[in-house]
Amino acid sequence: MCGEVGVYGHERAAEIAFQINWLHQNRGQDSFGVKVWNKDRVEGPGNREEQPTEKYYRKQIKGLEGRIAIAHVRYATSGTQSIKNSQPLSYNDMAIAHNGNLTNAESIRKDLESQGRTFISEGSDTEVILQLIKSSEESTIENKVIDALKKVEGAYSFVFMAENKLIAVKDKWGYRPLSMGKFGDAYVVASERQALARNSVTNIKELNPGEMVVIDKTGVNSYDFGKASKLQQCVFELVYFANPCGAIFGMKMDGAEFRYQNGIRLAREHPVEADVVIPVSDSGNHAAQGYAKESGIEYREGLLRSHSAGKTFTLCNQELRAKAVQQKHTAIKSVVNGNRIVVVDDSLVRGTTAKKIGRMLKNAGASEIHMRIASPPVKFPCHYGIATPTKEELIAANMVKKEISEEIEVDSLEYLSKDGMLNPLENADDFCKACFDGSYAENLGDLVQIGQLRS
Ligand code: SF4
Ligand code: MG
Repeated sequence: MCGEVGVYGHERAAEIAFQINWLHQNRGQDSFGVKVWNKDRVEGPGNREEQPTEKYYRKQIKGLEGRIAIAHVRYATSGTQSIKNSQPLSYNDMAIAHNGNLTNAESIRKDLESQGRTFISEGSDTEVILQLIKSSEESTIENKVIDALKKVEGAYSFVFMAENKLIAVKDKWGYRPLSMGKFGDAYVVASERQALARNSVTNIKELNPGEMVVIDKTGVNSYDFGKASKLQQCVFELVYFANPCGAIFGMKMDGAEFRYQNGIRLAREHPVEADVVIPVSDSGNHAAQGYAKESGIEYREGLLRSHSAGKTFTLCNQELRAKAVQQKHTAIKSVVNGNRIVVVDDSLVRGTTAKKIGRMLKNAGASEIHMRIASPPVKFPCHYGIATPTKEELIAANMVKKEISEEIEVDSLEYLSKDGMLNPLENADDFCKACFDGSYAENLGDLVQIGQLRS
């Protein structure tokens, strides 16, 4: 999963891209980068393998010249963790920041390599798009991009700059969010609407699935390259990933409300006698509040969260995640000791957090621990940009509820049903839920060939 930003037509384009992308940190912590279009070429500092800092902004970004800029935060899903795969990925004459995952990148890359094309990244699916654009025989940059899009499959929302233009694209399925708006006379594109709205961007609209927007000196031109008959907007964005303070996919409801309502339904589906409801903060907060409201059980903060520890799900390996989880939460004894606890989280993916939480609450004196998850069990890998590449990593794909309860040391474990999760959505059919039910929209033949698909 990643976040991206594009700015067109502002003398401080790089600074604005940086500031807006700062609010995409929920979407990835593996790398952060900014590139500008200046005097007909791509320029900018090297990408960083970590979160940006004030100092980095002052030393590397402030004062960068160029009226077009793109920025990216990365959470590695395809390719290795190498800095070579950080984004924006750029050549001298074009740069791209991509969110999603192409499902046929490997075979296209092999084809292009056999034609003598040299890649600078290590297995990044994003570079496949750049190479396809470069090798297209169409005459205009717009048509070259469309030509490339005809060949790729999977999930992509991206911003791209070349030839004094900013181009923003959302795939035909609409897997990942992407919005645009105005900042004075400049145009700004970003993964999440909240990142725009919190930076005073106005007239914000979500791009349509299958839409390419080209911004240049003639203004804004929109192209429709074909929308899928049944959309696949990622429901996991709402469950966990997107910042809950904003709405995505053009919805009216923000993420916080979606999660709160799911907490209410979770309490209806899986009530239990208890003394307090506590969230696994922060991602479980809204669902826990819904659970508490519906059940009438008091809501308390029973796990103090250290914000310097960051978002563990997006850290790049299991060892780092386990370490970060340990540092991230501390049980508050006065809330937990002697009490029957309902502990609510948004989702159960690898079980890394749940294992530590169970032990932590027990050590703090909980008399009973009932874990409630505000989404169904994640049993299938995501091939569209969330890093759950194999079934082996998914705890619910390998153990039944009773086994997981023992593993995470809780007295009971229950999940919200799929219908319960989809209930707040007006158009549930337009959402992908493949990680919950295995119903992938596309032919995944390429992934079978390269051995990534394990069903
Ligand atoms: Fe989102 Fe799950 Fe579909 Fe991946 S498989 S796009 S995480 S809903
Ligand atoms: Mg969490």
